[in-house]
Amino acid sequence: MTTRQAGRDLDTSRAHSARMYDYFLGGKDHFEVDKEAALLAAKAHPGLPVTARENRAFMHRATRVLAQEHGIRQWLDIGTGIPTEPNLHQVAQSVAGDARVVYADNDPLVLKYAERLMRSTTQGRTAYIEADVTDPDALMSAVEDSEVLDFDQPIALTLNALMHFVTDPHDPYAIVRRLLDPLPAGSALAMNHCTPDFDPETWNNVAEAYTNSGTPVQFRSHSDVRRFFDGLDLIEPGICCCHRWRGDGGEEIPDAEISLLAGVGIKR
Ligand code: SAH
Repeated sequence: MTTRQAGRDLDTSRAHSARMYDYFLGGKDHFEVDKEAALLAAKAHPGLPVTARENRAFMHRATRVLAQEHGIRQWLDIGTGIPTEPNLHQVAQSVAGDARVVYADNDPLVLKYAERLMRSTTQGRTAYIEADVTDPDALMSAVEDSEVLDFDQPIALTLNALMHFVTDPHDPYAIVRRLLDPLPAGSALAMNHCTPDFDPETWNNVAEAYTNSGTPVQFRSHSDVRRFFDGLDLIEPGICCCHRWRGDGGEEIPDAEISLLAGVGIKR
């Protein structure tokens, strides 16, 4: 595996989403400031650890479906998070040993652990890039420089629990279009995104807790999440709460508990 970094230092003076998320998943790679912010957010919605787990479970299923049913062998995963087993490449390589995955995140802590957890099969490859999705030109040129992905073959772009950290002034739809543009036909977009639709009061409180702790978020409605897939063919079951997307048993959880809208679309 290769790593590439922008050389930023860890900022432990304020909470960061990757480390708050690590706390929710029961990991150890966070600081006190992250735990405090996570507890504040969990005051608004005590079910956040369940949301985090269902989010990971969606990533596992979507990766398998793309590998098994759509022949995808390459992934570009942005907003990877602090490595949590199984990571995307482990799921993909359990289906196809030669799968290649480029990971990108903007938290330097993720870089610190990237090497530890991103060991590839010998037939496959992985790389990690420290990059910000709000500068998609720089991100894509770093992806190209890593020479892990073949842009003549389909690539799945995965943006799980990422785009709600990109507020409207950053033009999130233009960013996703820019990321999809260089990908050939047969490529895919798999993403999930927090929504206030099922329980506006609770999720507006969660959004406020994140924003107040220094991480602005923008949760979006079903139709706004749908827009990310404009021009793509959504595969079954379309856009739904992530635990119902090809769910494997946890579907009795109410949508309001999870509130992450998920979908997978294929580029024609
Ligand atoms: N995709 C993982 C982690 C989600 S947590 C999963 O679904 O399990 C959100 C991740 O997005 C964090 O790791 C955070 O550091 C990253 N992130 C937030 N804003 C970002 C940005 N502007 N550019 C790149 N990564 C970002």
